[in-house]
Amino acid sequence: MKQFIYADNAATTKLSLKAFQEMQKYLLYDYSNPSQPYSFSSNSKLALKEARKIIANCINATPDEIYFTSGGTESDNWAIKGLVLNGNITNIITSRIEHHAILNSCKIAEMGGISVTYLDVTKEGVVDPALLENAITNSKTLVSVMYANNEIGSIQPIKELCAIAHKNNALFHTDAVQCVGHIKIDVKELNVDMLSASAHKFNGPKGIGFLYVKKGTNLNAFINGGFQEKGYRGGTENVAAIIGMAMALKENIVNLEKNALHIRNIEKAFISRLNQNGIEYLRNGSQNTLPGLVNISIKNSNGEMLLHRLDLMGIYISTGAACDGKNNKVSHVIKAIKVPKDYATGTIRISFGKENNIEEANIIADGIKRIISK
Ligand code: PLP
Repeated sequence: MKQFIYADNAATTKLSLKAFQEMQKYLLYDYSNPSQPYSFSSNSKLALKEARKIIANCINATPDEIYFTSGGTESDNWAIKGLVLNGNITNIITSRIEHHAILNSCKIAEMGGISVTYLDVTKEGVVDPALLENAITNSKTLVSVMYANNEIGSIQPIKELCAIAHKNNALFHTDAVQCVGHIKIDVKELNVDMLSASAHKFNGPKGIGFLYVKKGTNLNAFINGGFQEKGYRGGTENVAAIIGMAMALKENIVNLEKNALHIRNIEKAFISRLNQNGIEYLRNGSQNTLPGLVNISIKNSNGEMLLHRLDLMGIYISTGAACDGKNNKVSHVIKAIKVPKDYATGTIRISFGKENNIEEANIIADGIKRIISK
């Protein structure tokens, strides 16, 4: 029996047992460096090839469009800085609610003379395509808008935003770290030029991810070294983690609809228990959110306090507000969607995953009720 309730799956997920078992083989037995020419390396070489194929199939890409990275942060950094480095862009258009991997990469780009526009979002946390249409004035532009927000779960109209970018001869990147393995992603249908993903968000291991780069996209290398990843990302491949990532992604894709239905049912049960408990809250995000991601702002409460009190009950959730030293600062996302002041500081994020159940959702909602009643 579990001794705790983990409901912070947007932060990270439990490693798939199948992925773990497959990884062991490449850690303990087939541990060769895949770049070596001798026969001992043939298994790890083949495994990398197979993993690339599996991952490509999961997002409808081709294997040569998948580049392994150390995770979402590196993929985002590469997408932004790789284009800045080759001098092909003078402008970046992004949103105010991106992950800091994008926002801080944009800051560096700005220091290098690139002009960056931060698009506002609606109060549901969605980028209005009309705003992008107005903001693009230059074809030497990269548009980078996340597929779904990690704090509030709002899913963006990526296909539409991408079409606007392309109509203006601009490039389009999306940070799909919260989406890959959870909702259907088809890079051909979306027509994106680059897409970031991270394995630990879909039951793969930590410290591994990938960047999808559409064939023909002119992106500079970001990590210089040997000829791994066709010379675009040097460094000996983390073979076991790559295999684990492919296994976990395949498992989630095979069960995508089943998992989403299970998680949505938990989410519904949670909301209904919150309502039964008479908690005064606002639910943040749009109608179209990631399965299981529930961001709520509780009136006259404190997210940090709720997190720590739930922790004492063995319940792990997250705040929507980043803690800055002694000050409870409201996060950039909660600010951008203009949550009223008396609610904003009481923001928490509960993110259910496939391992959760309705009983756990009820326990969390009752725990919140008990805390705020005191
Ligand atoms: N982008 C988004 C939207 C995320 O949620 C995260 C992780 O929280 C990242 C990027 C960074 O991913 P990683 O932890 O793999 O570096």
